[in-house]
Amino acid sequence: MDELVKMYAQMGITKQVYEYGEAVLEKLVTRFQKIDENAEYNQMKVVKAMQDCKVSEACLLGTTGYGYNDLGRDTLEAVYAGIFHTEDALVRPQITCGTHALALALMSNLRPGDELLSPVGKPYDTLEEVIGIRPSRGSLAEYGITYRQVDLLPDGSFDYENIRAAVNERTRLVTIQRSKGYQTRPTLSVEKIGELIAFIKGIKPDVICMVDNCYGEFVETREPSDVGADMVVGSLIKNPGGGLAPIGGYIAGRRECVENAAFRLTSPGLGKEVGASLGVLKDFYQGLFLAPTVTASALKGAIFAANLYEPLGFEVVPNSVESRHDIIQAITFGTPEGVIAFCQGIQAAASVDSHVTPEPWDMPGYDAKVIMAAGAFVSGSSIELSADGPIKPPFAVYFQGGLTWVHAKMGILKSLQFLVDRGIVLIGVEKDKN
Ligand SMILES: *Cc1c(COP(=O)(O)O)cnc(C)c1O
Repeated sequence: MDELVKMYAQMGITKQVYEYGEAVLEKLVTRFQKIDENAEYNQMKVVKAMQDCKVSEACLLGTTGYGYNDLGRDTLEAVYAGIFHTEDALVRPQITCGTHALALALMSNLRPGDELLSPVGKPYDTLEEVIGIRPSRGSLAEYGITYRQVDLLPDGSFDYENIRAAVNERTRLVTIQRSKGYQTRPTLSVEKIGELIAFIKGIKPDVICMVDNCYGEFVETREPSDVGADMVVGSLIKNPGGGLAPIGGYIAGRRECVENAAFRLTSPGLGKEVGASLGVLKDFYQGLFLAPTVTASALKGAIFAANLYEPLGFEVVPNSVESRHDIIQAITFGTPEGVIAFCQGIQAAASVDSHVTPEPWDMPGYDAKVIMAAGAFVSGSSIELSADGPIKPPFAVYFQGGLTWVHAKMGILKSLQFLVDRGIVLIGVEKDKN
């Protein structure tokens, strides 16, 4: 173990920080065991779907041009449908990101005069422009699709009474965001999502229930599609891409919903038949194969970070003991210096661009400066070790990812080292909360 301590020292992590981390980890053994069991189950779920669909070497090759008869693409979509237990799936490099996948699912399944309902409060920032909550060119609002929202109750539970009142004859689609994203509400468990869907279908059976599954895939053994969701939607540069997918999004669900999306992605009449996979299929397959253990690594990283920083007096959401339903960890430092040190520490632990120092900057679309740490193999990939924080009260950072657990661990220790070196944190001394 001395050699390990020496190696950490070479990485700029002192014995004191390392040992503090080890003490934290001792208490997490059983919890990590549960995460490994979950990954074991999901690994088999993925392999089984690949075997059932007879994935072959030929599937790893791509097509060009129109992409007719793309065996690898069509088989991969069957694999996704197998994993999510849905009738069909659309998994494409032409879906550019998570927002695009969600916009596609919405725009293809809603028609003028329909109403969209979010019964879980405000959706993810980028969806505000898709829906037209913030006026935007090409939004659903411009096409005569209205939007209604029911916020969660103060304790984070569903406001069943107001949801019942909000469902009307025009309600066509209900959007449910699994992850809290960058809000303070709790992330929804698959079980909770199932209860909500059952309630809504009880009021109006033919309404389409869509779940924004970003950051949630493989965190539990079940997915929202196992508890009644008609569509689950997500990004391949998050969990299901396993860190290898260089681009892409997916929509898995009922055949009609998926076909609607395909006709919108390509063209009426063409649908799923076109869309060359080019050279990405091997990474899509291999990334999906790795996704359960990669997600487990990220999940361990998030739990480690919560348990490392909470005893030092910082507020962490989720807290050190609560159950997890996505891979995001928020830590409130209360000062700009804390946010900056944390993000710079994460960046310094990267394998790509570790030598650059992130600084807060005026990002388009944000009302305060934001600092981002992202030394990633895939640009912007947030299943890789990454963090960002707006430089405004309460001065919180959002941390996620880690392709391997040991790298997530090293990144978090490095962040703590930066905070210690700058005198923001004293290890072994309770932070004065005033
Ligand atoms: C990341 C995310 C999105 C949007 O995905 P992008 O790939 O960034 O466009 C939507 N919803 C949630 C909950 C997310 O976490």
